Amino acid sequence: MDAPTQTEGYSKPSRPSRPSRPTKREPRKPKFQPMKFVDCNTDKPRIFTQCYKCDVPLLIQTHHDGSEPVEHRVQCPSCNHTAFIAMTPKVDQVIVLQG
Ligand SMILES: [Zn+2]
Repeated sequence: MDAPTQTEGYSKPSRPSRPSRPTKREPRKPKFQPMKFVDCNTDKPRIFTQCYKCDVPLLIQTHHDGSEPVEHRVQCPSCNHTAFIAMTPKVDQVIVLQG
């Protein structure tokens, strides 16, 4: 008979299982992102900023339709990375400002 003698490390419920996280770690580096809000008093405020990744100038058109603002990871049309995180109900359009 091959009775398993090891009891340790198998049925220990002591270690709480970690919630699985995406393996890609992106430490939040402090980086200066210029930001300019225009049309703040309308329901379509716009944000002039730059892509976090490639620094391309961007115009983000948001829409305040009365719903709760949520975190929008605005994707850069130029490099396809997260360019900006906007707290707004809706993001209408992201425009690359070039030239
Ligand atoms: Zn970019």
